[in-house]
Amino acid sequence: MNPLHKIYLQALINQSQQESSQQVKQEENSQKQNVQYLQKQQLLQIIQQCQTQYQPIQQVSKPPTLIEVQNQVTSYLQKIILQKQTINLTNVLDVQLPYFLIIMGNLIIYGLENCSADKEIVTDLLSQYKANPLKISMSGSLFQTIALLFRSELINYDQSTKYLANFLLFRDDFCDIFFNALYCYQISQGQTVSQQIGFTQIHQIIKKQQDDVWTTFTFKLLSQQQQKLTKDQFLMQFNRYTQSLNNFFTKSNLIMDLVAQSVKQTAKLHNDQIFQEYLLIMGSFKATTQDFLKKATQVFFEETADLDLLKFSSNTIKIHKQMNCQILFILPMLLQLESHYLDHIIQNGFTEMQVKNSSNYYLKMIEKLKSKCVYNGEEECNCKKCQCIRRNRNSAKESQKKKREALEKLGPLQDEFDKLQKKVKQLETENQYMTSLLFDVFKHPSVEKIASQFLEPLTKIIADSDPIDEC
Ligand SMILES: [Zn+2]
Repeated sequence: MNPLHKIYLQALINQSQQESSQQVKQEENSQKQNVQYLQKQQLLQIIQQCQTQYQPIQQVSKPPTLIEVQNQVTSYLQKIILQKQTINLTNVLDVQLPYFLIIMGNLIIYGLENCSADKEIVTDLLSQYKANPLKISMSGSLFQTIALLFRSELINYDQSTKYLANFLLFRDDFCDIFFNALYCYQISQGQTVSQQIGFTQIHQIIKKQQDDVWTTFTFKLLSQQQQKLTKDQFLMQFNRYTQSLNNFFTKSNLIMDLVAQSVKQTAKLHNDQIFQEYLLIMGSFKATTQDFLKKATQVFFEETADLDLLKFSSNTIKIHKQMNCQILFILPMLLQLESHYLDHIIQNGFTEMQVKNSSNYYLKMIEKLKSKCVYNGEEECNCKKCQCIRRNRNSAKESQKKKREALEKLGPLQDEFDKLQKKVKQLETENQYMTSLLFDVFKHPSVEKIASQFLEPLTKIIADSDPIDEC
């Protein structure tokens, strides 16, 4: 540590000691603050002077932090975007990872090799990253820049790299959502604290080796990385979540575009299972969102005003099971599905896959589902579909009401009808009795001979007689 640092550090320690003594009076405090301010100003002046005088020493003694190197890579990549250059990547990673992580890893290594940051730390990072790319982490701006690079289609790697332009993680409407739910705080040398999104965290979402990975992700997403999730925040964030996903399913996205494309190239069909899964996720989202919201609001905040991760996790599992849906896991599910799809394309190409249903079927189903509004006629939505559903519901209600009214009017009549039926039954038994009586009469030897002539028409008359008319 050089003497300058010692002075600065000592001043900082003194300052924090002064700050921590709480018994100091207000006046004394403000006086001290003035002094401290002056001290700081002076220190800054000294440092600035020293920096101009002893620049080489300063550079040697203070190695750049991770965030500083990342900033260098970021500005290098931003320059490429501005100049619309293309980057030709070759694979330097010898690991099994999802396709998008391999390309991202290679891109960051490329950025490190070409940026103007201090060579020593760059070499160190490069050897770490090449040995284990899961150690790679990105600051918010580096991650956003990389996403933008993919969206701008400025990266050449192989035939499939173009699909990454529409990949969920890199979309401009989702990359912030993923970053905000996945970042961790990292403290590097020089005490710089920064928010970093790591390959490990992203990879865990795809792998999902532990059950709680998606729950934790969703909790962080909804609580915006707070320890507790309040009801208001849940309602607000769930609404945002619904809107983003609604947008995702309605507009162009990776899988939907490939379904549409595969319909045009009828011979080249894609993976059935992935299309089916996509349809299931989309269908579940469209059908159960509002019911889920009602149920979740009730169950989540039944006993407490705010949820922690543990409570959130057990409740989520409970509701998902009860409703037979996975509403809260849709985002990680989609990221996983898109990643699997890309890996599938890389491994098998387009032609070898077998499809049970023609992709035209999927496209039709997707189109049908697209027009279904998640609000399903709820008052808060004013789209055409919801207005139509509300109209239909109202007219259905109206006709139900009419039916009920008619039935109410029918009430007294029904009583009369029941009475008549009773009478009919009674008459029928009486008739039967009469018939058997007549039989007996006709069995008498003296009338037996003419019985057949009478008996038949008589039973016929009794049977034909309309009971209501008779009364
Ligand atoms: Zn609607």
